[in-house]
Amino acid sequence: MQLTEHFTLDEFTRSTTASRLKIDNSVPDELMPNIQLTAIKLELVRQALGKPIVITSGYRCSELNKRVGGVSTSAHTKGLAVDFQSPYGTPRQICQRLIDAGVQFDKLIQEHNQWVHIGFSPSNNRQIVLTAVKQGGKTVYLNGLV
Ligand SMILES: [Zn+2]
Repeated sequence: MQLTEHFTLDEFTRSTTASRLKIDNSVPDELMPNIQLTAIKLELVRQALGKPIVITSGYRCSELNKRVGGVSTSAHTKGLAVDFQSPYGTPRQICQRLIDAGVQFDKLIQEHNQWVHIGFSPSNNRQIVLTAVKQGGKTVYLNGLV
């Protein structure tokens, strides 16, 4: 199912972990408006980068979210966040570009120099920017891009 010009529903739901563990990660009807909103916002992200974005994790049902170690309140479980990479550049370069371009988001996280997490809110996008790093085997979130 095509959501917007460049994004399909399949990109939001596919998960190697879900396939392996035979978890049904399909989006419930009531969350479809959130997925649609996220796809629309991601078109703006794609536009700002001028490059495609590759979603590595989109929607996660609560079972899948637990299995991948996500926090229970994760915006992924509401269809309001994705993790992605892009040939535009490193996660840090991507985050910097999105900030400079004035792209709207609720939360933008540069995660371990490996991927970018971006979350949206239907009502109030807070423009929170964080960097996730490992300290003593634990993930900690530092303010801003560091
Ligand atoms: Zn994420």
